[in-house]
Amino acid sequence: MSLRFRVLGSGSDGNATLVEGGGARVLLDAGLGPRQLAERLVSAGVDPSSLDAVFVSHEHGDHARGAAAFAVKWGVPLAGTRGTLLAAGFAKAKLPGFEPVAPGETRTIRRLAVRVVAVPHDAAAPVAFVLSAGASSLGHATDLGHLSRGLVAALRACDAVLVESNYDPAMLRDGPYPWSLKERILGPLGHLSNGDVGRLLESGLSDACRLVVLAHLSRRNNHPELALQAAEEALERGGRRGVRVALAAPEGTGWIAVRASGAAAGQDEGQLRLF
Ligand SMILES: [Zn+2]
Ligand SMILES: [Zn+2]
Repeated sequence: MSLRFRVLGSGSDGNATLVEGGGARVLLDAGLGPRQLAERLVSAGVDPSSLDAVFVSHEHGDHARGAAAFAVKWGVPLAGTRGTLLAAGFAKAKLPGFEPVAPGETRTIRRLAVRVVAVPHDAAAPVAFVLSAGASSLGHATDLGHLSRGLVAALRACDAVLVESNYDPAMLRDGPYPWSLKERILGPLGHLSNGDVGRLLESGLSDACRLVVLAHLSRRNNHPELALQAAEEALERGGRRGVRVALAAPEGTGWIAVRASGAAAGQDEGQLRLF
């Protein structure tokens, strides 16, 4: 197996995804507290100090909250855009290292390539990631207001895609959030709706893609069943019956293998945590 991943947290309580491949091990986002993050790594069988880097997508607390403290405690360097570095206050922390990365750039750790892709979101310099090892690749995109051309092109190359399916528009409109927050979420720099993800799934996936993980679901403005149904209907419309859809629970998933040539599947389907 060349690439596998495991969601450690998903949604507004905190996001983090562990990815292993090409002899390297990285974390994407660290939005949980450092102790909780370490506990979830240990329960995944991973020594926190063995991580090669923590890539931070943007400075919002649910993605960056635990990053600096975790990095300092376990001696793991952080990586992110300069905008994220400044906005998250990482420049003030005594980090064991900070690797600035820019959109369009690919950072390689041993044989794991991490490509950085700009995304439209209301943060300083937010990004998504495409990770490749051997012939298999994973696209990882949470927190974006719309499907930019650059991101769609990047995801089209992936064997597996983790993407946020944040809200159901009717639930958001009728829900308790103040209108200013609703406008922010609905706007082009907010979050993706179930319907937005549907458009990606209907026509934006590579023929090789066999797995989609829906992540960062809003507790208040979405139902797992609605997100899943929207995704499955979109795949049906696109004639993509071979693509499996899984939901990342707030507390994460089990290990998920991404196999080359599109043969992506849960390593242990029983471990794939559904709601
Ligand atoms: Zn978020
Ligand atoms: Zn955000």
